[in-house]
Amino acid sequence: MWPARQLDALYDATLALVYPMRCAACGVASVEARADAPACAACWQATTIFTGDETCCRKCGALAAGDVPPEQRADVRCRRCDAAGFTAARSVGKYEGALRASILTLKHEPHVSARLGRLLFDAGRRPPLDSATRIVPVPLHAERERERGFNQATLLARTLATLSGLPPDEWSVVRAKHTPRHRAGMDARARRETVEGAFRVKRPRLVAGERILLIDDVLTTGATVSACAQALKDAGATEVFVLTVAQA
Ligand SMILES: [Zn+2]
Ligand SMILES: [Zn+2]
Repeated sequence: MWPARQLDALYDATLALVYPMRCAACGVASVEARADAPACAACWQATTIFTGDETCCRKCGALAAGDVPPEQRADVRCRRCDAAGFTAARSVGKYEGALRASILTLKHEPHVSARLGRLLFDAGRRPPLDSATRIVPVPLHAERERERGFNQATLLARTLATLSGLPPDEWSVVRAKHTPRHRAGMDARARRETVEGAFRVKRPRLVAGERILLIDDVLTTGATVSACAQALKDAGATEVFVLTVAQA
């Protein structure tokens, strides 16, 4: 018998030959391995994936501009996130290339690739996120979820729960307000105002005293995760960490 890994590689090669899948990032190359879908190996290679050694805001994870002396690296704060409701936010990498393609594809195809799952797991294992006790996806409004058929944050949360062994919690928080989509040109304040009070914790008993790892696909201004984190904290969560696939 062939080892499973070789069989997998053979299966990938056969599949790529029979059903070539165009890379969703460059639109040119084919995706060589199922595990990498929807992007090709070269596009993954070209995408900035954080290692945890970047100099970034201790709270929101925004990359620091300019040089920071080594002894101050652990204490960088951007100050733009001072009012945010979460304890700390981190992302797998930058909103570009394979990560951007993964996020856009996940909006219409309910599948998290093995590679993306692994990257989420690696990012969630780094401090301070590694002290989380429970995984919560940022909920969609019920109506929006019905339109789409699924919540992409829930799929990411389930993948991470399977890999990490942490319990997933898809029930405690709901999106009570149908917020308009964030449009280009909306400033941070407008975004904050549209999501204010949008989240409600239905089962405070489940989140009280817990350190929550809140999952979403992309971190833009942080207004959405901040509002959701605030609702969880108001319901008694000790800490709320945020993990997203990418930061814009
Ligand atoms: Zn590509
Ligand atoms: Zn910050």
